[in-house]
Amino acid sequence: MIQDVLVLGAGSAGLIAALSVKRKIPQLNVRIVRSPDIGVIGVGEGTTPNFPRHIFDYLGISRKHFYELAEPTWKLGIRFLWGERGRFDYTFAPQLDAHWSDLPRPNGFYCDEEFSSVDITSALMRQDKAFPRQPSGAPDIQAWHAFHIENAKFVEILEVVAREAGVEVIDGRVTGADRGPQGITAVHLEDGRKLEADFFIDASGFRSELLGKVLEEPFESFDKTLFCDRAVVGGWERSESEPILPYTTAEQMDAGWSWQIEHEHHVNRGYVYSSQAISDDEAAAEFKRKNPKVPEAPRIVKFRSGCYKRLWVDNVIAVGNSGGFVEPLEATALMVVCSHCQTFVDFLLHSELDPTPSMRDLYNELVSQGWHDIRDFLGLHYKLNTALDTPFWKHCRADTDLSGIGALLEFYEENGPTGFCRYRMGSSQNDFGIEGYFVMLVGNRAPYRKRHAASPQEKAIWEAHRQANTNKAKQGIDVKEALYYVRHPGWQWNAEKPA
Ligand SMILES: Cc1cc2nc3c(=O)[nH]c(=O)nc-3n(C[C@H](O)[C@H](O)[C@H](O)COP(=O)(O)OP(=O)(O)OC[C@H]3O[C@@H](n4cnc5c(N)ncnc54)[C@H](O)[C@@H]3O)c2cc1C
Repeated sequence: MIQDVLVLGAGSAGLIAALSVKRKIPQLNVRIVRSPDIGVIGVGEGTTPNFPRHIFDYLGISRKHFYELAEPTWKLGIRFLWGERGRFDYTFAPQLDAHWSDLPRPNGFYCDEEFSSVDITSALMRQDKAFPRQPSGAPDIQAWHAFHIENAKFVEILEVVAREAGVEVIDGRVTGADRGPQGITAVHLEDGRKLEADFFIDASGFRSELLGKVLEEPFESFDKTLFCDRAVVGGWERSESEPILPYTTAEQMDAGWSWQIEHEHHVNRGYVYSSQAISDDEAAAEFKRKNPKVPEAPRIVKFRSGCYKRLWVDNVIAVGNSGGFVEPLEATALMVVCSHCQTFVDFLLHSELDPTPSMRDLYNELVSQGWHDIRDFLGLHYKLNTALDTPFWKHCRADTDLSGIGALLEFYEENGPTGFCRYRMGSSQNDFGIEGYFVMLVGNRAPYRKRHAASPQEKAIWEAHRQANTNKAKQGIDVKEALYYVRHPGWQWNAEKPA
């Protein structure tokens, strides 16, 4: 039976994992070992809505504490400067997989010409507002949001909360491990110490010290579907006149795409590209040309897209970049970390801390399916984009392997954005849902045969709905003003007792 858990790594993955275990299974002794010399990755700043749910509802971190220490801003979705339309918004609320009761077809069939302000969240995004305004003037903070958050600040607050929860944090560099019949029995530190445990969480980032190096689990590359393998990262201090946008921007570039993430005082940009298509110098030059405000020489981060064949081997489970990674086109890394932590904690609880081999197999099947779903969803972003004719984009359109979602694409090609497409998705583990696929398909104007010819009356009803959303959004509240409200001493979070 598991009693002692050792987490290797104190980046966001290791800290979230340690806290998840300690909060839900408090009788376990949980320690973290991390190397201050190696440090954390220091990128990873957009999230999805499962992140606030995990932080507040699952880990029980107080909103007040979190907002004070982590200083997040809100993210309603992603603005894609992408494809033939040039621009469309992916919100975290259902836009296209929804249906007005006074119209005969779902929303997706009315977006051929204009795809914006389809619901209140996308109307807010279009007006650069974060939330609707309540009659009192205060923001109506809706559930459909995620955060932009600086990795260093986030890791700092997680460490404070982890220590408060009784997690011990040990500084030291792991150089090797002892193995026994059940897996790893101890890790060795550079200074000669040895740390024993009966369950290990490998959160050592791309180094994958335990799963990859000690256990030598094979790695499956996603390079048939995702061609990018590097990022140029930079940013600048925000001037007073630059609005804090309530969304991440993802913009097509010559050999990949570029993100813009909005922090209160800092604008963070990065260009994800394929090193097969352009050199680091060419990527840095394009990045600087399009972002003249980036002051310093941008930093280059190398990565490989893919995941280990199994993420749980013997008594070692890998969480975060040590288990798998894909480029941040949908900001999925922390989403995956939170979801994996909830799943394996459930497995530990349901096996009464004595997991069986078939439990491990099931876990591995579920998380592997999840990684492959993400691979295919990201691949779709590339395959459908017909806007640029650079060698990179031609290669994406011709060669991106989407065989994993072939049945869905075939069904869509015949029937268009009908909700029945969900039955051709193949997996029920997908966090994006059919909505995510529709946004990419409709946003990129992917052709389909069974089109709906809307009557003039239908068009008028459709436009009236969009206009009502726009009118409400115009009265909304932007990020700066909303931050002012939540920092006011009188502000009270609904879900929390007064501090
Ligand atoms: C370019 C880029 C952009 C990204 N953007 C996003 C985004 O927008 N949204 C998102 O959710 N994610 C994003 N990510 C991913 C995100 O940064 C990470 O997935 C997330 O922060 C988790 O990192 P980690 O904890 O797995 O690894 P790390 O932060 O690298 O932490 C690894 C830990 O292991 C320790 N360690 C390693 N080896 C040893 C050793 N031998 N001994 C002791 N300690 C050791 C390190 O000291 C550190 O504490 C991005 C990643 C990249 C590369």
